[in-house]
Amino acid sequence: MKLKNTEHIFETVKRRNQNEPEFLQAVEEVLSSIDPVLDKYPEYESVVNSIIEPERFIIFRVPWIDDKGNTQVNRGFRVQFNSAIGPYKGGLRFHPSVNGSIIKFLGFEQIFKNSLTGLPIGGGKGGSDFDPKGKSDNEILRFCQSFMTELSKYIGAYTDVPAGDIGVGAREIGYLYGQYKRIKGLNEGVLTGKGLPYGGSLTRKEATGYGLIYLMEEILKHNNDSMKDKTVVISGSGNVAIYATEKAMELGAKVVALSDSNGYIHDPNGIDLDAVKQLKEVERKRIKEYVKDHPEAKYFDGCKGIWTIKCDVALPCATQNEIDEESAKFLVANGCKAVGEGANMPSTPEAIEVYIENNIMFAPAKAANAGGVAVSALEMSQNSMRLSWTFEEVDEKLKDIMKNIFVRISTAAKEYGDEGNYVVGSNIAGFLKVAQAMYAQGTV
Ligand code: GLU
Repeated sequence: MKLKNTEHIFETVKRRNQNEPEFLQAVEEVLSSIDPVLDKYPEYESVVNSIIEPERFIIFRVPWIDDKGNTQVNRGFRVQFNSAIGPYKGGLRFHPSVNGSIIKFLGFEQIFKNSLTGLPIGGGKGGSDFDPKGKSDNEILRFCQSFMTELSKYIGAYTDVPAGDIGVGAREIGYLYGQYKRIKGLNEGVLTGKGLPYGGSLTRKEATGYGLIYLMEEILKHNNDSMKDKTVVISGSGNVAIYATEKAMELGAKVVALSDSNGYIHDPNGIDLDAVKQLKEVERKRIKEYVKDHPEAKYFDGCKGIWTIKCDVALPCATQNEIDEESAKFLVANGCKAVGEGANMPSTPEAIEVYIENNIMFAPAKAANAGGVAVSALEMSQNSMRLSWTFEEVDEKLKDIMKNIFVRISTAAKEYGDEGNYVVGSNIAGFLKVAQAMYAQGTV
């Protein structure tokens, strides 16, 4: 779509953020959705002008000693993008691909996602180009301690609350939390995704994957359908993919594929989830090991081929831009009805066009994977109250949150004349709450 009201703003974004393709991609999508909103609310132009600039972007050196006694140096990041509706909130990603563009696109998306949850959390994101693959526990510990030694200066339970993302799970959050506590002497909810014995929330681990399936079920229900008996392809095999698989199976779907960054497995009889959990959560091994004990399953090198498997529902839960135009066309040709994004920005703009042209039910990341950060916000609530809710209590709240997200995005899409377009719906609904808050506070 061509920009009208916001074209000059996008020109500024391009000039200021050269060589940052992922960030520009994320901004362009949001601007094209909210452009018509400015016809109705011209006073929000200043808000748009402000929202595309992070409040603060911190870049720091992370020196750490490897097992051979050598000093390694990585780069650490934290973008504090928007605090209009609450403390900065968003995960930390440890992956060699991490750079300023990736962190900024993630932080920018987080503003709208967090707003959609209906909870008081602003947008932030962080991480490092550190590669946890192949590192010993001790190396992970030393890296996390060094990373937090610097990060601790900028975060706090009422200012900025990081969590996990790719490469940052329970083990890393534990090491980071321990170091924060030593430096600050504070037992406060400064991180979410904590272990249960020290302030974590039940259902946080499952939340992103479960939330994704709850939202897909809402969308399917709206179209007189359900997850039952659907054949599902899920990319990734981390936290999001594993618990999306679990909930999809619980609702009667058959998940036939999973992947990691090396390749994918296809098990036409349905994935043996216990085996995957053992491999990925306990042994930290590669997904290709799965076929050793599952002769009916096949392993394929490379990630793209997973989208050529015939399925009714496709759930990209691995990483950004993993479905391009060609893969989207394969999905359509194979009769796929619905796509839900468990990862952040996993579909390219061209792929999204293919979904929309072919009337695929499409749940974009900001709505579809918001369950994780929503339960993080519930973890913050429990920490503040010094109480913990049961698994069922948190799960019920998560279900309600995902239902409300569906109502928000479908209502906004309809109101702006694009019924069923949840990209437009998510961007507009997410934006409006933040815009009202920023405007009321003097657009600072
Ligand atoms: N990394 C997750 C996301 O992309 C969760 C963030 C959080 O829990 O703060 O939303």
